[in-house]
Amino acid sequence: RAKSRQRAGHLYFSRSMDVDIRERVNMMHALRRTFEENRLFVVYQPQIDMVTREPVGAEALLRWRGDDGAMISPERFIPIAEYSGLIVELGEWVLRQACLQTVRLREHGFADFMIAVNVSQVQLRHPQFLAMLKRTLAESQAVAHCIELEITESMAMDDPEALTHLLDQITATGVSIAIDDFGTGFSSLSHLQKLNVDRLKIDRAFVAEITESARGSSIAEAIIQLGRNLDLDVIAEGVENERQAMVLSELGCSCAQGYLFAQPLTSEKLEEWLRLNSRKEGGRPLS
Ligand code: C2E
Ligand code: MG
Ligand code: MG
Ligand code: MG
Repeated sequence: RAKSRQRAGHLYFSRSMDVDIRERVNMMHALRRTFEENRLFVVYQPQIDMVTREPVGAEALLRWRGDDGAMISPERFIPIAEYSGLIVELGEWVLRQACLQTVRLREHGFADFMIAVNVSQVQLRHPQFLAMLKRTLAESQAVAHCIELEITESMAMDDPEALTHLLDQITATGVSIAIDDFGTGFSSLSHLQKLNVDRLKIDRAFVAEITESARGSSIAEAIIQLGRNLDLDVIAEGVENERQAMVLSELGCSCAQGYLFAQPLTSEKLEEWLRLNSRKEGGRPLS
């Protein structure tokens, strides 16, 4: 069979690919089951204002603990959720958790705290995406300006007109837009200029480079400069040490996120962490 496919000009379908596909199908079923059993959870990684060193927001990140107790990386299961279409339901659920979290934080005095939610290309292309966003905001009673959607650069490329229109409609709801992993997707800068985007998120690969060589900060610097020229905020992800934070600060990067400040935290831990690390709560400022 494989041979005839090959002859017909198809890719050779090897036995190891077969195993690979079976593994992915199994994973997809396990993911769906875990989701239906309500055993997935969301963690929140704080984002820090580089000038005041105050926490100003957090990124919501989906977590799956496998049946054996070990964590399964979203880098592995998100592509499977996208491929199977489950990401549409999963993404809606993550957004709702994030919305409810902003409402809880507002009740605890953090009214302006913003939570960023990763949105997959598959979700964004879904015809009901905007309706789902509005409904989720309304049902959770979240304030729209407390929610940010992170999209990736590659999405910005594939149907420029449709995306421009959608981002305008999202922006009209009050929700902000960030471009995640910025610098890795080769997006067209002239197109970027037309998109209703609020901030650029420097990919952690470029943050890591800062400490690696003399010219290591040049891409981060270029992105920060681009943000300044286009009047967009810039946030750095994956900040792991003081040296990186210092360079980013000096370059004028307004926000940062990374293990230096905090790991992704469960909902309960986030509230505890905020009480300890927010000055207005009487906590100590982050050094
Ligand atoms: P991302 O959106 O770029 O998220 C940042 C990733 O960097 C997270 O990995 C985070 O835990 C990790 N990280 C944070 N600080 C540091 C640091 O200082 N150093 C290093 N080395 N890493 C750091 P995570 O949670 O494993 O997520 C991986 C990717 O999976 C995310 O990348 C995002 O693309 C995707 N993802 C996670 N949750 C969701 C979700 O709810 N929906 C969608 N569509 N994608 C998600
Ligand atoms: Mg992200
Ligand atoms: Mg990112
Ligand atoms: Mg990244």
